[in-house]
Amino acid sequence: MFRQARWDEPTIFELGHKGRRGHVVSGVEDEIKRAIGDPLKLLPANLRRRKPPCLPELSEVEVVRHYTRLSQMNYCVDLGLYPLGSCTMKYNPKINDALASSPSMGMIHPYQDEKTVQGILRILYELSGWLAEITGTHEVSLQPAAGAHGEFLGTLTMRAHHKLNNDLTERTELIVPDAAHGTNPASGTMAGFQVVVVPSDENGYVDLEALEEAVSERTAGLMLTNPNTLGVFERNIEEIAKIIHEAGGLLYYDGANLNPILGKVRPGDMGFDIVHMNIHKTFATPHGGGGPGAGPIGVSEELEQFLPIPRVGFDGENYYLDYDKPNSVGKIGCFYGNVGVLLRAFGYILSMGAEGLEEVAEVSVLNANYLLQRLKEIRGIDVPYAKGRLRKHECVVSVEEMFRETGVRAVNVSKRILDFGIHAPTTYFPHIVREALMIEPTEAFEKEELDRFVEVVGKISKEAYSKPEIVLNAPENTAIGRLNEARASHPKTMALSWRMHLKKRAKRRRNSAGHQN
Ligand SMILES: *Cc1c(COP(=O)(O)O)cnc(C)c1O
Repeated sequence: MFRQARWDEPTIFELGHKGRRGHVVSGVEDEIKRAIGDPLKLLPANLRRRKPPCLPELSEVEVVRHYTRLSQMNYCVDLGLYPLGSCTMKYNPKINDALASSPSMGMIHPYQDEKTVQGILRILYELSGWLAEITGTHEVSLQPAAGAHGEFLGTLTMRAHHKLNNDLTERTELIVPDAAHGTNPASGTMAGFQVVVVPSDENGYVDLEALEEAVSERTAGLMLTNPNTLGVFERNIEEIAKIIHEAGGLLYYDGANLNPILGKVRPGDMGFDIVHMNIHKTFATPHGGGGPGAGPIGVSEELEQFLPIPRVGFDGENYYLDYDKPNSVGKIGCFYGNVGVLLRAFGYILSMGAEGLEEVAEVSVLNANYLLQRLKEIRGIDVPYAKGRLRKHECVVSVEEMFRETGVRAVNVSKRILDFGIHAPTTYFPHIVREALMIEPTEAFEKEELDRFVEVVGKISKEAYSKPEIVLNAPENTAIGRLNEARASHPKTMALSWRMHLKKRAKRRRNSAGHQN
């Protein structure tokens, strides 16, 4: 039986005591003063605060206990199955963390003389080469700090291409299928395009007739995920590429989840001009709750000129930073990207080797199809789209029938799954599936764990049909029960920082005091 710890843990601002300190290394402050004088005096007066910032003051042991308690109330991929579809939560081998946090990597500074950081520059140079090979593209930029950031850079690249061809005022439309990840239309809009949505057919493929109709001399390009978010590989990809290219548009590949195609097919060979990949998903960096990530993009030879600066170059002897790219879209982030994440990817690819990566693809596809075959036997669960077809790394099921017959919805099933010590799958995505549960087991989990997941979902289905209130009121074994999601996201009640929380609390108190008068 699973029971999560339930500490009544205050926020860190409510802990500690004024003047309390953590680790103080004796003599360091004197040493600094001797070397550079009073550090405060080095700051221009207008940048100095009048009052010190309001920061928590705690001893080391208080900090350690605080975060250990919080971690015990959390769930992570090191604890068990994390079948979040599209997000690729695979186990992250610790050797990669060791590499990224080794002092020779972690303690260098991007403003150091190039000659003193040849090692890291070489790693970044080689990693770009590997990623170009994996995706079948000509050149890779490691700069974007997330998938969505890569999409933004990719769509900026599209703009730059059409602009150079004096074609930008005409080409204002970006085509995105209705099964796409929400970041696709968002990135396209941010880059200044109008998004045109094309529907999927009964197999989850892009509807070719609708695509032909949507394409015109206004088409800047198409953003596509393949395998798509249903886990289905787009069979007509060559034809789609032809339609877009003949219309003068570019093809963008959302490669957030490369798991199923590693070593099998390459987006560049499918006809894509721009590809982003999510390093944190496919190449094993612990992520979640918004980071950390890296979303490099690879482009065709023709588009290489637009990649952001600086680029890491190699002159046969030395690695160097290249700023001399007149057609570049410019800078989109600090230095060369999120290096800690990139280092982990380097370690991961190096330790897996080409054969290992291919095996990742095979096992992740095997696992997803095994789960799908077993889940569809469960009462109330249905498999929409592409009936009888194999899935790639993930599968989507619908509990619409269960909802109609028992009142238990996808969100309830997901919350109940938490009670068994398993992370919930992605829920209500893709939008084209009603009451959707999107499941991606990845290659990192054993058959016993997949069987346990099926067993748990089976149990929940039985509960839904016999005692639905159990499922409707879940979770009960977690650190925190059912959250009020409306309150959590309403501007009136949402508090995103401690300061905001204090302000809102004071206001609430004033208001309720007012009511009593
Ligand atoms: C995760 C994901 C993205 C966005 O990546 P982030 O790193 O979260 O910005 C885009 N597309 C797909 C299909 C994804 O799964």
